[in-house]
Amino acid sequence: MSRDFVEAGGEEPPPDQRLQQLKQFHPAGRGPWASVPDADWNDWKWQLKHRVTTVEQLEQLLPTLTRKERAGAILSRTKLAMAITPHFFNLIDPKDENCPIRWQMIPRLEETNVAPWETSDPCGEDSHSPVPGLVHRYPDRVLFLVTDRCAAYCRYCTRSRLVSNASGYDFHPEFDRQIDYIAKHTEIRDVLLSGGDPLLFSDEKLEYLLSRLRALKHIEFLRIGTRIPLFLPQRITPELCAMLRQFHPLFISVHTNHPRELTTEVRDALGRLADAGIPLGNQSVLLKHVNDDPVVMKALVQKLLICRVRPYYVYQCDLIAGSAHLRSSVRRGLDIMKSLRGHTTGYAVPQYVIDAPGGGGKVPVNPDYVLSRNADRVVIRNFEGKVFEYIEGADGAPRFKPSEDFHVPEMV
Ligand code: SF4
Repeated sequence: MSRDFVEAGGEEPPPDQRLQQLKQFHPAGRGPWASVPDADWNDWKWQLKHRVTTVEQLEQLLPTLTRKERAGAILSRTKLAMAITPHFFNLIDPKDENCPIRWQMIPRLEETNVAPWETSDPCGEDSHSPVPGLVHRYPDRVLFLVTDRCAAYCRYCTRSRLVSNASGYDFHPEFDRQIDYIAKHTEIRDVLLSGGDPLLFSDEKLEYLLSRLRALKHIEFLRIGTRIPLFLPQRITPELCAMLRQFHPLFISVHTNHPRELTTEVRDALGRLADAGIPLGNQSVLLKHVNDDPVVMKALVQKLLICRVRPYYVYQCDLIAGSAHLRSSVRRGLDIMKSLRGHTTGYAVPQYVIDAPGGGGKVPVNPDYVLSRNADRVVIRNFEGKVFEYIEGADGAPRFKPSEDFHVPEMV
């Protein structure tokens, strides 16, 4: 049972009440770090230095650690590392083995179960990489991987082969070669900085990279993909925001999976980015035990809008090695999309996509709203299941042929 239910007195409340509970903002609190001075707690470098990274720390901080979690935490020394910032750790409900934060952050023994169709590079990024750290899969844009480090590590990460370097991928981006490629390929108009997490860089290093990209005349649009505002809201300082606002148009995509991640500190950090004129979008991964529930997803997307973030994508979880225990089904994803479209603000409805295995790119998947098309009409279904007809000819032209024999009334 999740903390949200426990707070309601042990019984699962009706959906409307549960939705409102999930949308409430709470501070992350200090938890086991109650005696830490404010100056340290609010310092992002202190938060990074005091991440939970070992099984010994986990056992001490989370006495309810299960056998499978303990085994997973030991195994994480040789695969995707474990790291959880104190801020994010405090969102774990120690009483709840099915806590959605726990499933995302604490390694589990199930990560060792690898199906034949699962791989370490499910989106085929390495095969679309003309120079190390640059993925050129779509015609007019590139993914610029700047680091293999994150503030915390998500157990379902598509780039777990690369991030944290626990499995020996040995990622060394070469910024000169990456930027040189972008400079020579004038068809590229959009660069997405990702990793790892670019906001782990110092302001100076990030400014250097953004300046070099902005100096290229054909680059119209810059983006940063980051989970830092959620893991480490202390990093979103006024100085960082002032630096970023020099590089407009610059968009930021954050990554949030559960409404509990949107704490008061996170809401304020996102507000600072929005105040700097940065349009914010969110990407979620559909995850079993976390957000494959229509009420949770609705609370998440509505709470994101309150935080001035537009829900952008919901990804079907990639076929990443050892992720079966976290993957929900496409059928479930479609049901959740049906529960959103028409039932809440259009701005709150993200696009559900599958990143086609092997490198096919993002493919939108939608519930069927077009029931049929024939010679004279398109038959559609609305969000309530009611059926309507839209009249048009087979060639898409209006079926009504206006008369050429018309009469112009005389002016009086
Ligand atoms: S923050 Fe992003 S890149 Fe880092 S571990 Fe999580 S999903 Fe992977």
